[in-house]
Amino acid sequence: MQIFKFGGASINTANAVRNLFEIVCTRNSNPLIVIVSAMGKSTNVLEDILDKKIRNAAFKTTLNFFKKYHLEICKNLFNNSGNQIFYELNQTFLKLHHTLNRVDAGKPEWSYDQVISFGEKISSLIVSTYLNVSGIKCKLLPATDVIETTSEFREARIIWDSTSEKIQDAVSAYGNYDIILSQGFIGADGSGITTTLGREGSDFTAAIFAYCLNADSVTVWKDVPGVMNADPRITNDPVMFNTLSYHEASEMTYYGAKVIHPKTIKPLANKNIPLFVRGFDDYEKPGTRIHNCKSDPETYAVIYKGDQCLFSFRFADFHFVNEKNLVEIYYVLDALNIRINMMQNSAISFSICIDHHEKKIRKLIELLQHKFVLHYNTGLRLVTIKNYDQQALEKYRPEEELLLEQKSRADYQAVFKPS
Ligand code: ADP
Ligand code: ASP
Ligand code: MG
Repeated sequence: MQIFKFGGASINTANAVRNLFEIVCTRNSNPLIVIVSAMGKSTNVLEDILDKKIRNAAFKTTLNFFKKYHLEICKNLFNNSGNQIFYELNQTFLKLHHTLNRVDAGKPEWSYDQVISFGEKISSLIVSTYLNVSGIKCKLLPATDVIETTSEFREARIIWDSTSEKIQDAVSAYGNYDIILSQGFIGADGSGITTTLGREGSDFTAAIFAYCLNADSVTVWKDVPGVMNADPRITNDPVMFNTLSYHEASEMTYYGAKVIHPKTIKPLANKNIPLFVRGFDDYEKPGTRIHNCKSDPETYAVIYKGDQCLFSFRFADFHFVNEKNLVEIYYVLDALNIRINMMQNSAISFSICIDHHEKKIRKLIELLQHKFVLHYNTGLRLVTIKNYDQQALEKYRPEEELLLEQKSRADYQAVFKPS
């Protein structure tokens, strides 16, 4: 069985949806599992609408923009205005209005998941209808029916046993379809309330389906031809990896390579399921195969992670940092679910580079200020060069203000303030 995943950019226009149709026609398994994200940048637009709603600011124009965007795609795809899709789309917009009326500033995480999930709910409705109209027998399987999660809204964790059972049951029930299409990024808790898995989580959803179904492969279709040795947005001469080991790929995602969601690799590696990253423009090209290989990576990889915060802990009275203090710090970091991207300690201070998350940082200060002198800097960038060589260092070592730098035999990392 094959799993195909299409992100926002691969379904951002009516023509992109037509391109998806051509790609799914190349499948070699029936049913094919297809996972779709929200169309284009509509998750960002929904975040904007929710933010305005919570601040009691006017959001009607943004909401109209969101609706018009999807309506235009439908008008282009389904020229018959009597098509059921227009009725269903309007019903979904009404549900979105209703959900916005229930937004509760006192429950921001819950509100987020109820509103933001509409991006995937709408895209899956449009794409599955288009496939059916085009002659492919497609079953729309709501992710909320099969992906069971904890109730940790915005970063829900998967309940693997029940998810596995539900996915397997659904796939055997709908085995006579050509395609079973579901939504990425969303799930539901034990009471059926919609949850989300974290931004960019649709790659992970594809891996969840693959794991639960012991699939033969997962293919994520992207706006790049494969995994490159640097984001093509930061370099004009990226080199594409033909193959990558699970290990290398997983580290790249850990350090911030945005092309694959960090949680995607583990379930696939555990079952030895290959992951293909391929370009949807040139869909016949093989792209990058991520699998269980032992060979050394073909070249170095550069990863930039923005919006970083460098946080340092120090004693005021020249006490040395010791293991006991570190345990205390780690305990709080764990409780707040703060992940360290890089760290360094000296005799009297301990520094960590973390994602800038204002609420968590305020809480960290509140919990530890009685014990340490705390300093932090935001607006920073972390650069990692995996398997660096001299040429890579010359090209990518930051020239801007350097705040922290580290080298191991394989990897180079630095935190700097971009100018
Ligand atoms: P999707 O919405 O389909 O999940 P993303 O936008 O999340 O797609 O991921 C694709 C983007 O990842 C590309 O447009 C590219 O700019 C970025 N990217 C970052 N690092 C890399 C890399 N090492 N190789 C390829 N693309 C990368
Ligand atoms: N639509 C969600 C997001 O933009 C999930 C995804 O694209 O993977 O974060
Ligand atoms: Mg993505």
